[in-house]
Amino acid sequence: MTHIIILMGPPGAGKGSVAQKLSAEKKLPHISTGSLLREEIAKGSELGEKVESIMQSGQLVDDATVIALLKERISQDDCKNGFILDGFPRTPPQAEALELMFHEMRKSDPLVLYIQVNEETVVKRISGRKECSGCGKIYHDSTMPPKKQGVCDDCEKPLIQRHDDIESVVRERFSVYQQKTAPLIAHYEQKGLLRSVNGNPMLPEVMDQVFKVLEQF
Ligand SMILES: [Zn+2]
Repeated sequence: MTHIIILMGPPGAGKGSVAQKLSAEKKLPHISTGSLLREEIAKGSELGEKVESIMQSGQLVDDATVIALLKERISQDDCKNGFILDGFPRTPPQAEALELMFHEMRKSDPLVLYIQVNEETVVKRISGRKECSGCGKIYHDSTMPPKKQGVCDDCEKPLIQRHDDIESVVRERFSVYQQKTAPLIAHYEQKGLLRSVNGNPMLPEVMDQVFKVLEQF
């Protein structure tokens, strides 16, 4: 039984933590298209050089290139029992290209796991985040506060908030995500592949739901 899991959810939904737990528990590699692209650049391959120049010009890497990279990655031995895909697809045409590839590779249908969170949860999670201006260590006002307010435990440099983490920016990113992914959600719902979990509680509770969904799929 192969498990192909596509993870979806807005920034702050906890996708990274869910992917990590799922990957460890089910022994499935976690494939993020962002890291795939960065790895290819690091390899210095011809494709990597092309990807680098596209990304440097601020443009998005075309679907065909991402699909080709994914195909190469998925063909590796560690993916034979399945894998967790993160960051792709983002649009219905990308989803269709991916389905075609799975079909050609004789892979089973993916389970699309949508981690649903409220805007307020996301705001609370992200806008409380602080970063050390010296060493980059991450803190959180409510879940991981520093010993001394506003100062890093390790290097005593001031903690700062990244621009992306400011509440108004977080709200904007949340609504952009909802708008942009609505067609993709509809696409997978129509195919009967979409399963939603409530991502608002703490991680252990979210994971309970995730494993239940996996069993039933
Ligand atoms: Zn520090």
